[in-house]
Amino acid sequence: MEIIEIVKDMQAYSQDLRVEGKVIAFVPTMGYLHEGHLSLMREGRKRADVLVVSIFVNPTQFGPKEDLNKYPRDLDRDIKLMDTVGVDVVFYPSAEEMYPVGYETFVNLDEVTKYLCGASRPNHFRGVSTVCAKLFNCVLPHLAIFGRKDYQQLKVIEKMVRDLNMDVGIIGMPIARESDGLAMSSRNSYLDSGERRAGLCLYKAIVGVRELFDNGERRVGALLDRAVGIIMNEELARIDYVKIAHPENLTDLIGVVWDKAMLAMAINIGNTRLIDNTVLGEDFEKC
Ligand code: AMP
Repeated sequence: MEIIEIVKDMQAYSQDLRVEGKVIAFVPTMGYLHEGHLSLMREGRKRADVLVVSIFVNPTQFGPKEDLNKYPRDLDRDIKLMDTVGVDVVFYPSAEEMYPVGYETFVNLDEVTKYLCGASRPNHFRGVSTVCAKLFNCVLPHLAIFGRKDYQQLKVIEKMVRDLNMDVGIIGMPIARESDGLAMSSRNSYLDSGERRAGLCLYKAIVGVRELFDNGERRVGALLDRAVGIIMNEELARIDYVKIAHPENLTDLIGVVWDKAMLAMAINIGNTRLIDNTVLGEDFEKC
C-alpha cells in the first residue's frame, strides 16, 4: 500500500494510471475506520482496477464549537484495516497541503443544504462539497463511493457532480450497523456504555416507523409521532431533528406519503451527535 501526502504526487500517480487505462475507485474518509468504511472499500475494490482511500479530517466541515480537535485518529490501525481489503493507495494530506495560506475558494449548494443537518450545522456542507471537489481533483477517480449513513452528504455530492459536470460516478452504499442495530460511526467511540445503549433509540425508531409504514400507515404526522415517541422514551437523548423528508430534495413531506419517504434523525447524547436514517418504501437491506 502506497501512502501519498502531496497533492501533486497524487495527481501524477492517478494521471499515469489513467494513461494506462486503469479504472480508479475512490473512498473519501476522515479515518478511524470501521466496518462501514470497509464496506465502501470492498465495493470499490470490486468495481475498479485501483482503489484509493483518502484519510483527511477536514477542518472546513467542522463548526467552531464542534469536535475537530478531539476527532479520533489512528493511522496505524487504519492501515492494518485497509490492508485487509486490498487498498492500493492512501491519500493522506495535511491541512496545510489542502488549504495553503491564502485559500479562499468554496463550493456551495444553495438548496439541498438548507434542510436536516444543514439547518443545524451552518457551513458544514460547504466544507464537505469543497473538500470532495478538491479530493476529486487530486485523486482523479472514475467513481467515488459514499455511505448512506450520511444520506444528505450523498445527495449533496450527487448534485455537485451533476451541477459542475464532474466526470465522476457516485455510488451510495447501505448503512453498516452493529449487531444490535446501532449505525457504525467513528463518533461512537465517544460514547460510554450507558450512552451507547441510549443511542439505540435511533435504530428502534427506524424499526418502529418501518413497521407502521409496512402496515399501511401513510400519514406523515403518525409516522413522525412514532419516531419521536420512541426517542423521547430514552432519557439521555435530546432531539436535534426528526423529519419525514422527500428522499431526493430533502424537503419536509406534508400530509401523506405517496411513494417513498426518508425518515431522518439527529440526536445529541451527552456531547455526542448521532444521526441515522432510512428510506420508507425501500428494502431495509438497501438503506
Ligand atoms: P467519515 O469518515 O465519517 O467521513 O465517513 C466516510 C464515508 O464512510 C462516508 O461516505 C460515510 O457516509 C461512510 N460511512 C460512515 N459510517 C458508515 C456506516 N455505518 N455505513 C456505511 N457507510 C458509512
